[in-house]
Amino acid sequence: MKHDVIVLGAGMVGVSCALHLQRRGLSVALVDRRAPGLETSFGNSGLVQFEATEPYELPRDLGFLISGAMNRRIDVRYHLDAVLQLAGPLFSYFVQSAPKRHAEISREYKTLIARSIETHAELIEQADAEELIAGKGYLTLFRTERELHKFFEKADARAKLGVSHLKLTAADVAKAEPHLKREFAGAIQWTDPLAIKSPGDLVQAYARLFEKEGGQVLLGDAKSLTRLRPDAWRITLNDRSTVEGEKVVIALGPWSTELTSRFGYRPPMFAKRGYHMHYARQDDRPLNNWVIDAEMGYVVCPMKAGLRLTTGAELAHVDATRTPSQLANAEAIARDVFPLGDRLDAEPWMGARPCMPDMKPVFGRIPGQDGMWCAFGHGHQGFTLGPVTGELLAAQMTGANPRIDVAPFSPARFA
Ligand SMILES: Cc1cc2nc3c(=O)[nH]c(=O)nc-3n(C[C@H](O)[C@H](O)[C@H](O)COP(=O)(O)OP(=O)(O)OC[C@H]3O[C@@H](n4cnc5c(N)ncnc54)[C@H](O)[C@@H]3O)c2cc1C
Repeated sequence: MKHDVIVLGAGMVGVSCALHLQRRGLSVALVDRRAPGLETSFGNSGLVQFEATEPYELPRDLGFLISGAMNRRIDVRYHLDAVLQLAGPLFSYFVQSAPKRHAEISREYKTLIARSIETHAELIEQADAEELIAGKGYLTLFRTERELHKFFEKADARAKLGVSHLKLTAADVAKAEPHLKREFAGAIQWTDPLAIKSPGDLVQAYARLFEKEGGQVLLGDAKSLTRLRPDAWRITLNDRSTVEGEKVVIALGPWSTELTSRFGYRPPMFAKRGYHMHYARQDDRPLNNWVIDAEMGYVVCPMKAGLRLTTGAELAHVDATRTPSQLANAEAIARDVFPLGDRLDAEPWMGARPCMPDMKPVFGRIPGQDGMWCAFGHGHQGFTLGPVTGELLAAQMTGANPRIDVAPFSPARFA
């Protein structure tokens, strides 16, 4: 089988790249070791985060650094071996989180976020997936007046960039979510983001759209990638047949750099792992909104499979042994707040956010390897940014003008 392009990885990012490349007239094979949308893009919080105009920086205040070092926080945990091995990229992340540098990075980042809803809405409609949208918006809840008012300033700054919100008092919160078991000082209700009931189903709907429009979804191991000729790449599929492509796109999420390293490209990616668990609704009491308990650092989402609790970041090697104590600790806190009933999954789910020290995704041509392209490193917002990444990468690969400046996301910055 010969194609113009082989896309490796069928998460939100790879599927979106495959769709957009095909729409520019290329024949595309999408290869994954599993069916589409079963890894990181499956287990996230399902928010298309139009409000996320700044990427997640590393907090630099002393209180955070000391409590973080003690490894007892709910929002951040670490494996010591990973932190020692990743000291270079993590130090760079710390440096780039300085306010001035973070503001510069955010100016670039928000050009992507600005197209996130539009690029998803178009695909959702074409994929006939409207029933997966639970609604618009979510709540960021605060326990203390101090943190609430600090966050109001952030929300006001984002409003100047066109992000809408409502400021909720304690009484407004109780009205919006009458079954919370404790009082909150107040909240920001973001009104633009899309809340998706089953993120993995959305990736699968996009993959079906890709197939309907003529694309091929194939099972195979990306590690079998070889260069046959200067203009031909080859992958061996699970059934031992092969597929060839003139170009290849590496979109393997947190596993991407394992493959690019073999071809001499070694960007400093690190994983922030996260866990989730679904719960029954206690006494059938509903939760109306996606909710972040901001000062604790976990999210509860009323998804199709139940109330999904997702955790913050665990700095660890992507495939290291699971240590879901962060989930157990978040669950204990969440049980005092939300109507969580019994656990519904046999085991906690785990995924890994693919993160770069400068907090920006990496997409474009890989330097030094003709015909090798990539799209990975979307960190906390890969579910949000998959479709816009696909749109921009497809324009670049076909010699068209991308709608926004793509230079800040170029792989060349790590060459
Ligand atoms: C707890 C949690 C909550 C989150 N919440 C949100 C949110 O609300 N909104 C948001 O925008 N983002 C969120 N994120 C981040 C988001 O989920 C990721 O950024 C995004 O899913 C990354 O997509 P991807 O396509 O790059 O990677 P993935 O979805 O991981 O896809 C990579 C694909 O590569 C395949 N693959 C890997 N190795 C091989 C191989 N050797 N051969 C073949 N195939 C291979 C995998 O099977 C997989 O399908 C969250 C993440 C976590 C962990």
